[in-house]
Amino acid sequence: MSASPTLRVDLVTGRRVLVAPSRRGSPRDFGAIPVARDATACPFCPGREDLTSVTRDERRDDEGVWLTRAFANLFPMVREGAAVTAGHAPVAEERAAVGDHEVLVETPAHGIDLAELSDRHAHAVFDLYRARLAVMAARDDARAVLMFKNRGPRSGASLLHAHGQVLSLPVTPPGVRRRDLRARRHFEAHGRGTLAEARDRELDARVRIVDETEHFAVYCPFAPHRSFETWIVPKAPSASFARLDDARLDALVPLFQRTLRRVLRATDNADYNVVVRSPALRHWSAPWALWNLEILPRRGGDAGFELSSEMQCVLTPPEECAEALRAL
Ligand SMILES: [Zn+2]
Repeated sequence: MSASPTLRVDLVTGRRVLVAPSRRGSPRDFGAIPVARDATACPFCPGREDLTSVTRDERRDDEGVWLTRAFANLFPMVREGAAVTAGHAPVAEERAAVGDHEVLVETPAHGIDLAELSDRHAHAVFDLYRARLAVMAARDDARAVLMFKNRGPRSGASLLHAHGQVLSLPVTPPGVRRRDLRARRHFEAHGRGTLAEARDRELDARVRIVDETEHFAVYCPFAPHRSFETWIVPKAPSASFARLDDARLDALVPLFQRTLRRVLRATDNADYNVVVRSPALRHWSAPWALWNLEILPRRGGDAGFELSSEMQCVLTPPEECAEALRAL
């Protein structure tokens, strides 16, 4: 077994880093030249389930064939029994990255993207994500849970076959902590959290709104990370996607599919990430706790400006993005 993943803090910047030698050797479709391998070597295709770890949970069609399946990541970012080894002269804090990390294959079909699935199939996928995220959140060692999907080499994906990931973390990562702190302070001062405040301002102004249903608002955020970044935010208090009720899940799936298709059309099928954010687990009962889903088109990596400033530069204002998305 390879060396344990650990979470380190940089003495100079305070930056948190996951050092994960446990991920070395993972299969890759995309090499230095991002051209995908064909399906014959794909570990996520039907008939090659023995190349992954055993299925932990799945959803099947009427004939009993799996539509989507979840299993432990063979090359995890966190894992059971992770430990800090001695002898490498740490200069700042380090702790073992203990937790669980799963892969969810979203379709048996090799070349099909989530955006192309039927609403019924996509519903099975989101139902499985919800169940697996709840399992992660129930772990004693979990302080936060992450759920995301990488699509295409520019998103950081290593395999082409449509899949996503859920994992637990034994610490609250800085991005989650920062959002939680801002939400809590805003709630104490104004009686509601930051995400609810931003959502309601967007719904009032309607400048960056892309779509709206009974249960969700869809908009391009005021200060995005990426051009055409699009958020789906629940209208009712809801701490985590893991706790979404069936009626709202039913409503979310067609809205997500329609939104993802719009973003892909507007970006000429850019690579993308989907990120589902929730507060740290200890805040799931807080009155300001609210989850959201983000679609982030990826056309390039961070360049020198982003690296030196830790600030993103986007080329298309979100007001223009929203207008373009509404028109599709
Ligand atoms: Zn495949």
